[in-house]
Amino acid sequence: MMRHVAILGSTGSIGVNTLDVIRAHPDRFKVFALTASKQVELLAEQCIEFAPAIAVIGDVQGAAQLSALLKEKGIHTQVLYGPEALVTAVTDSGCDTVMAAIVGAAGLVPTLAAAKAGKRVLLANKEALVMSGHLFMQAMKAGGGELLPIDSEHNAIFQCLPDQFTKAPHPSLGVEELWLTASGGPFRNTPLQELNVITPAQACAHPNWVMGRKISVDSATMMNKGLEVIEAFWLFGLPLEKIKVLIHPQSVVHSMVRYVDGSVMAQLGQPDMRTPIAYGLAWPERIEAGVAALNLTQLASLSFSEPDLARFPCLALAFAAAKAGGVAPTVLNAANEIAVAAFLDEGMPYLQIPQVVEKTLNAIQISSVDSLEVILDIDAQARRAARDFIKAIH
Ligand code: NAD
Ligand code: MG
Repeated sequence: MMRHVAILGSTGSIGVNTLDVIRAHPDRFKVFALTASKQVELLAEQCIEFAPAIAVIGDVQGAAQLSALLKEKGIHTQVLYGPEALVTAVTDSGCDTVMAAIVGAAGLVPTLAAAKAGKRVLLANKEALVMSGHLFMQAMKAGGGELLPIDSEHNAIFQCLPDQFTKAPHPSLGVEELWLTASGGPFRNTPLQELNVITPAQACAHPNWVMGRKISVDSATMMNKGLEVIEAFWLFGLPLEKIKVLIHPQSVVHSMVRYVDGSVMAQLGQPDMRTPIAYGLAWPERIEAGVAALNLTQLASLSFSEPDLARFPCLALAFAAAKAGGVAPTVLNAANEIAVAAFLDEGMPYLQIPQVVEKTLNAIQISSVDSLEVILDIDAQARRAARDFIKAIH
């Protein structure tokens, strides 16, 4: 069957890797829509190569520029712009599969729309699920589509669980614990006093993975793993205390499931996102992903240890927010997005990231979540509070 794929965030790291897998399988996949926030030229190149029905760019100026570039090449892609056009693109009946690869809260509304519309949702945009947890899972259920995790850890766990479990978790299936592995990022062994003077370039230099800037900083602080614990909680429906984090610097074991009979299932592979992307695109079949075979004899060793919560306060904050529930993960995510942007673009010191998140979590009343409106309102409140704390630092 031919899949018609919309890629939310096609110019990003996940987007480009997704197109790389699609390029190799023209018999299976047709690109229906491509979207980007600002990178007009790259989006134009992608449209020229894949000729999607729809392309969406951030604003009206970008749309004019993109239209001109496509007209020059005789490409008949319909050019739209703005957040509502993202929803139009993913809910169109011409699209059956949506790669959710926008970074951050900006991806929530279109990803939720894809869920409600019953599409196959390939979820890379973990922030969307962290913000909206229960609501998102409900929307998936109501829509009747398929949710396939693309985050490498969750994709690994999905592969290590029996099919019945991912449809309906049942105790008889014997799943005891999920073990999320984490590389520990670039500062796993950096002396704590040196963290004061970390630059964005240092924070974005991940030892094993090449990724967008925001998730790279999240990996350095380990907020990424905190968001992933919350993501796993919603995806797999296990209690929080059964979701564990293990530092595994080699990033070869992408995560594991421990069973009641003593078995532990692991998924191994190169640290290359094309593996989970290809898995999600072709599921339940498997296809070539362009990834080199893993050679275990060339690896010196695989090691595992407990994370140090004093070194990684963001991880502790995420555990606390997960435990508090309600809108706490929404607040955690919003404050983190603002703090990371201030570190990357405004010279806020690296060590202020957890401080801003903690202050914001303490400042916002934690209510329960019942609608998208509540989530978006809390997200906006948390962003304002975080910005105020950052202003007070300068
Ligand atoms: P990136 O920064 O490389 O790309 C982000 C994409 O989103 C770009 O196409 C950009 O144009 C688009 N975008 C940004 N802001 C937008 C907005 N306001 N409106 C519309 N579009 C917008 O990020 P990435 O590394 O590809 O990560 C994307 C998502 O996948 C993140 O949620 C990340 O946590 C998750 N993820 C990434 C990796 C990885 O290896 N890169 C691994 C696991 C999970
Ligand atoms: Mg991950």
